[in-house]
Amino acid sequence: MRIFSSRFVFPITSAPIEKGAVAVDGSFIRAVGPSAEIVSKFPEAERRDLGNAALIPGLINAHTHLELTNFGPFKKKRGLFFKESSFVSWLIRLGIRRRIKAKLLGSRPFIRAYRKGLEMLRASGTTCFGDITSLPEAPALVDDKGLRAVLYFEAIGFNPSGAEQKASEMDEVLERAETKKQSKLVTLGLSPHSPYTVSSRLFVLLSQLAERKGLPLSVHMAESSQEVKYVMESSGEFVKRLYPLIGWNKFVPAPTNMSPARYLNSLGVLKKGALAIHAVHVDDTDIAIMKKTGTGVAHCPRSNYFLKVGTAPVNRFMESGIPVGLGTDSLASNATLSLWDEMRFARDTLPLEPSILLTMATLGGAKALGLDRNIGSLETGKEADMIAVSTEGCRSGEDPVSYVLETGTEERIRMVMVAGKEI
Ligand SMILES: [Zn+2]
Repeated sequence: MRIFSSRFVFPITSAPIEKGAVAVDGSFIRAVGPSAEIVSKFPEAERRDLGNAALIPGLINAHTHLELTNFGPFKKKRGLFFKESSFVSWLIRLGIRRRIKAKLLGSRPFIRAYRKGLEMLRASGTTCFGDITSLPEAPALVDDKGLRAVLYFEAIGFNPSGAEQKASEMDEVLERAETKKQSKLVTLGLSPHSPYTVSSRLFVLLSQLAERKGLPLSVHMAESSQEVKYVMESSGEFVKRLYPLIGWNKFVPAPTNMSPARYLNSLGVLKKGALAIHAVHVDDTDIAIMKKTGTGVAHCPRSNYFLKVGTAPVNRFMESGIPVGLGTDSLASNATLSLWDEMRFARDTLPLEPSILLTMATLGGAKALGLDRNIGSLETGKEADMIAVSTEGCRSGEDPVSYVLETGTEERIRMVMVAGKEI
């Protein structure tokens, strides 16, 4: 048994504790409370005082593409505040760059990028993330780093007659990934990319595959107005600009006259354990469907801003009781992978209370990724995924949650722990 004490403990599910402590037994949290109480309960335990810091649950990034971490020059040249001329232009540019890189250099730069992304997450206090990947090496890379993740293997397939083949390929990809992963910290999942890159037939097959294997599923949904137009009317920028470049025009289906959320629901994609990434363009009916089916949301405010796609109705999701996690998305549409930066951006633009934002970046993410029984808060019985962040400079009487949110950066992280192990 080990006791970690600090100036503050934020359990998230209850109010911050001043002079608090967390007792950790192996990989699990045994008790949380005032330090004096915890110490007298376990007098034999090994003790560690983290000093002027707040012990909080490890941050949970609900949406990343770590293999795109090296697409930095893309943003460096332009900065977060240069916004793309259109979502489709960005996607075309990203697709071309990705394809050229893969052709010239194979998977090596993507593996390097993945490792770099993992370290960026760890260093900024993120202990768990939901990643979209096509790298077979991803489970082993995450294991090596000691982080926790849901790895959603990505599927793209627009030609309906190739759907069976693609679904069975994904089945094999997942089988192989299963044999490669070593620790229980990695959960495998499946991600049909989006309504504009996956045929309806493939959506149905992959949704069935996820169900058969008991895997979580995530999908980019209702991100841009171009996507809405495409799903509704089978027209717009995707059809005019993207598909001719990749020979997809001949596969464009008949208009559905539905919103992306209604369309995906009609294919059985939205369900308990499903994660809708972005969900910017949703109306009240869509939100009711998401609530009813148990679909969660990965909210990525800085990426949405960068790509000029609009603002997701986060307050309405929360009022409806839909789980909302916070995601950075990749460095192809964001400046950093830090959830501190993401929380501050959300606070300044929405605006939301600091405690709500911190809940979104911890317990909300855990719920969205389907891991809230194990992580997301500091509570007895949960796994010890926690970080210590400095509260030096926080005056007495000042709200410590606001303070931590205001000052949280890589430099102020004092400890990162996943399942009781410091990493
Ligand atoms: Zn994404």
